[in-house]
Amino acid sequence: MEKTIHIAVVPGVGYSHLVPILEFSKLLVQHHPYIHVTCIIPTLGSPPSSSKTILQTLPSNINHTFLPPVQPNDLPQGLSLQMKIQRTVTHSLPYLHQALKSFASRTPLVALVVDLFAVEALHFAKEFNMLSYIYYPVAANTLAWKFYLPKLDEETSCKYIDLPEPIKIPGCVPLHGRDLFTAAGDRSSQAYKHLLQLCKSFSLLADGVLVNSFLEMEMGPIKALTEEESRKGKPSVYPVGPIIQTVTSSCDDANGLECLSWLDKQQPCSVLYVSFGSGGTLSQEQIDELALGLELSNQRFLWVVRAPSSSSSSTAYFSAQNDLDPLQFLPSGFLERTKEKGMVIPSWAPQIQILSHGSIGGFLSHCGWNSVLESVMHGVPLITWPLFAEQRMNAVLLSEGLKVGLRPRVHENGIVGRVEISHVIKCLMEEEEGEKLRNNMKELKEAANSALKEDGSSTKTLSQLALKWRNLVHEN
Ligand code: UDP
Repeated sequence: MEKTIHIAVVPGVGYSHLVPILEFSKLLVQHHPYIHVTCIIPTLGSPPSSSKTILQTLPSNINHTFLPPVQPNDLPQGLSLQMKIQRTVTHSLPYLHQALKSFASRTPLVALVVDLFAVEALHFAKEFNMLSYIYYPVAANTLAWKFYLPKLDEETSCKYIDLPEPIKIPGCVPLHGRDLFTAAGDRSSQAYKHLLQLCKSFSLLADGVLVNSFLEMEMGPIKALTEEESRKGKPSVYPVGPIIQTVTSSCDDANGLECLSWLDKQQPCSVLYVSFGSGGTLSQEQIDELALGLELSNQRFLWVVRAPSSSSSSTAYFSAQNDLDPLQFLPSGFLERTKEKGMVIPSWAPQIQILSHGSIGGFLSHCGWNSVLESVMHGVPLITWPLFAEQRMNAVLLSEGLKVGLRPRVHENGIVGRVEISHVIKCLMEEEEGEKLRNNMKELKEAANSALKEDGSSTKTLSQLALKWRNLVHEN
């Protein structure tokens, strides 16, 4: 009889760090039902109800346990959300150790898979004789850069942005220093030091990295990452994607339903969907230019509008935005003038349902990796408008590498002007160049679906991993 294989997974803190690793776990047990996953969850304060809801929908071979919550008062005041997540994991380590010890005393655990924000937890893998893995929810291309960063750091004395030539690393599209991770913009910052440390710890702590990407989309970086001679001392890399959510949680709210029924009335492939992810924000000046560019393009659009921020393009991640109605920040008369062409929806929309709607013909996106994969899975070409984190690297991959996206030119003052916006929108939605991108995206969509089939590249990779674990269990 097939022996049960037990593994543990540790997400980061909060709903958006729980969902990706659960989606991976679901795919794993769906293909390999003899695997049993225990999800051990660090929390800050009491767990959000959205996390509890999603945990109730899991199959019986995935169970979960919450670690005792870290209290907000236990953390220093004024930390960014990222540092809060990191510190919560650090504070939870003794409880995690206890939990692993207690599980391991009952059933041997074969592997420990952790979120990027919980890499510290991998220190325990050796003690409990487990293989150690990072679930990497973004592009293989950025993983290749993370492995390369310590070398680049050693060899470069200036700011990366001042490098005269694009940086070339094996298998990746050459990248200008200004397009690297946001944290690499200031090499003296805490954020950069943390990033560098994290990159170094990958090789020290992990036996493998499971990447949410697939061979056919990122052939160059994946080949480079998996080739024997280039790996020397680095963890094995397993492309297991694309893994996306099948529905968005908010699809039944009034705004969501209204925009889906508006889409029902539009022509096939006629609407541009505009969204900057779960927390991306624009300045007031940029909102004005985007609105006027959409108007000027004369194309149909569905725009998820968020209140502006002058300080940071990731503002809405780190704090619930104020209660102000985002629509009041649109240029005067815009809604009235565009009411026949466009729909505007405040703050949040059911993205998966929107992208799967036949009326959608393009996606103006901030290039968060989930949005990218969701667009690929639904065959929707992109206008790439990166804001922060690794999004510029994704934009380069999409526009220069895969040729499934158009990247608008940013003016020296950091603003994309209305004429440029209107130009790229028209180009994507009605010109020959847009048609080519659409065809390339269709091919990529097919490749994505193939990667997930029974004999597809990602399914085979997942099986390879499961086989490795099975052999270990049978040997012991
Ligand atoms: N999302 C959504 N509705 C919105 C904005 C975002 O459903 O109005 C979902 C989207 O489908 C994706 C996730 O939120 O799954 C955003 O992840 P991504 O990696 O694209 O960007 P991030 O929010 O991490 O910057």
